[in-house]
Amino acid sequence: MPDPARLSVDWRQAVRRSARMILVLLGPPGAGKGTQGARIAVHYDIPTISTGALFRDAVQRGTKLGRTIQKYRIDKGEYVPDEVVVDAVKQRIAEPDCAAGFLVDGFPRTIPQADAFDSMLTEQELSVTGVLDFDAPINDIVGRFSGRRVCPVDGSTYHVTVQPPIVAGLCDICRTPLMIRPDDEDAVVRRRLEVYQEKTAPLREYYHGRGLLREVDASAEPETVFAQVITAIELLRAQSRERSKQQDSQDR
Ligand code: AMP
Repeated sequence: MPDPARLSVDWRQAVRRSARMILVLLGPPGAGKGTQGARIAVHYDIPTISTGALFRDAVQRGTKLGRTIQKYRIDKGEYVPDEVVVDAVKQRIAEPDCAAGFLVDGFPRTIPQADAFDSMLTEQELSVTGVLDFDAPINDIVGRFSGRRVCPVDGSTYHVTVQPPIVAGLCDICRTPLMIRPDDEDAVVRRRLEVYQEKTAPLREYYHGRGLLREVDASAEPETVFAQVITAIELLRAQSRERSKQQDSQDR
């Protein structure tokens, strides 16, 4: 006869493991992870943790993390050391808004970060629900960046072909001449893509080997990409529930 107390602990563990949705968005800069991440967050009511946004915000507010980040050239796309990133994520996911799950965008970016993420989740009897890999041809990505323009006064963004201003080169709102953001310069974009290929692309294999990866064709229209994203997430959730069940029956 199974011990009822043990059964209820198992049951609670199973619920915790499967109920908390933890998603990873993988893909090169400019593949649309930010746009899709914001939509996923609304759809599933979970927060998005973008390490890039976290770092820029910390620098702007001059926090301790911000002062550390300032030692590195994040405006040139050079990676912040793994231990700094991992610490920042660990603190962020301990906040109450992550209790029902969360989405990470721009993390993990290296194998050691993925290993550390795995360990911090395992400590809480959690695991990654699934990984969405945003795939787009390099030339599309460079094109997206090279056409992007920003107003230095109000921050509104445009694209010379996809979303042009009413008067070429001028902000629609305040008529200030538009500029190219420093990290959108062609040379910097190419450097960011190189760093991605070298350090982050191996994560595809890493997650694929664990049966957690689903590819998304990020070159389609945002609406079409979002439909693919939802289908992929539902599949990943179903697989994750199945894994939890199997794990529980092994544990008994
Ligand atoms: P993003 O907005 O995701 O492109 O991030 C902006 C910059 O922050 C990156 O180019 C890196 O310099 C740094 N960064 C963000 N996330 C990470 C990470 N997981 N590992 C290392 N560096 C990061």
